[in-house]
Amino acid sequence: MAKPKIALYWCSSCGGCEESVIDLAEDLLTIAAIADIVFWPIAIDSKYKDVAAMNDGEITATLINGAIRMDEQEQMAKILRRKSKLLIAHGSCAHLGGVAGLANFYKAEDVLNRAYKEVPTVRNPQGILPKVKTIESGREVRLPFFHDTVKSLDQIVDIDYYIPGCPPTPELIKEAIMMVLEDGLPPRGSILAEKKALCDTCPRRDGRPDKLKIKAFKRLHETEWDPARCFLDQGIICLGPATRGGCSARCINANMPCRGCFGPIDNVRDQGAKSLSFLTSIIDSKDEEELKKIADSIPDPAGLFYRYSLASSMLRGRQ
Ligand code: SF4
Ligand code: SF4
Repeated sequence: MAKPKIALYWCSSCGGCEESVIDLAEDLLTIAAIADIVFWPIAIDSKYKDVAAMNDGEITATLINGAIRMDEQEQMAKILRRKSKLLIAHGSCAHLGGVAGLANFYKAEDVLNRAYKEVPTVRNPQGILPKVKTIESGREVRLPFFHDTVKSLDQIVDIDYYIPGCPPTPELIKEAIMMVLEDGLPPRGSILAEKKALCDTCPRRDGRPDKLKIKAFKRLHETEWDPARCFLDQGIICLGPATRGGCSARCINANMPCRGCFGPIDNVRDQGAKSLSFLTSIIDSKDEEELKKIADSIPDPAGLFYRYSLASSMLRGRQ
């Protein structure tokens, strides 16, 4: 009997999600023994035309990581949607727009100017920016079009499942692939991680008081913090109460507060708004001046609350 077919692809990605697949290590061999990996540009030499030549629905499941910023990525997402029975958004950028989506705070033109003209390490005296079409020695060279905004994958194509995280843990990726191969998937549209917030499984949850009261938010370098105590209880912002669990508390165990890469829990429409609302609920003051001072002690609030979800939030970008 023919083996099930798996494909992997990346769009606007830092490569970390690809790394998380490589981190499956020997488990990759287990997967390769029961499935054919038919397309994975970072690791195997297959061409776009090989995918285009496949029958619709021929691939059992495709995992796509990275957000959508270029027209080439949009086209590939649409092709892979057609060719795959299941399409899985792999990692925060595909799931919510991710860190790549923070670019929506700027115009596309500003992003290109910054990257190609203003960064101190760039030498570009003629101020040349990438063009869709260039004629070089009589030869036409084409580059993908850079869209105005970054989008999450489900703003372009229908998605069957999501593996959250920046990047997801190899354990979650293995579990998701095995669910596909063993026909053990939950209802379509599910996020393949914990249902509850990170605080519920956090190793520091036992010491967290029922009622938190904060007079000032401190940054990590501004205080000597107790590595066993809840971050929030020490006035250090941790987004664990508004973030889905399932990450094995990797950041907490490395003594860093949660920044929300697993996205919101079910039925929360806007992770940033949820984070903002829980933080404001624990501020311990009724005095307007003091409240302003405490709010001002939150560095880069938009970048903090929407670090992974701006592109898919209600704001979508700079308003
Ligand atoms: S989710 Fe994180 S690790 Fe994955 S591509 Fe985006 S930035 Fe990189
Ligand atoms: S706020 Fe952060 S440190 Fe505290 S219990 Fe929740 S996840 Fe853990």
